[in-house]
Amino acid sequence: MENTIRVNPLKYPNIKCKCGCEVWNQGVILKRVPGLEMGQGTEDVFVDLPVWYCAKCGEILPEYKEMYKMDDNSNAPKSEIQTKLIV
Ligand SMILES: [Zn+2]
Repeated sequence: MENTIRVNPLKYPNIKCKCGCEVWNQGVILKRVPGLEMGQGTEDVFVDLPVWYCAKCGEILPEYKEMYKMDDNSNAPKSEIQTKLIV
């Protein structure tokens, strides 16, 4: 690992989802970038960017949503959970 952690993360508050969950899963969003811009020939290149989403409700961490300019309904699991709650 090239990123040496010098601070103790345990002394900082856990990031909570608005549903109260403190556990996050990591996913990726994919970008299709022209190979020429990446210096990798003429083929398009897939670039994956890490994103964190709530393990309980599937809500994407708002900071990432903003950074990647994601749609509000881009995380499918949410509606699934809501349906279960109504039933
Ligand atoms: Zn949540």
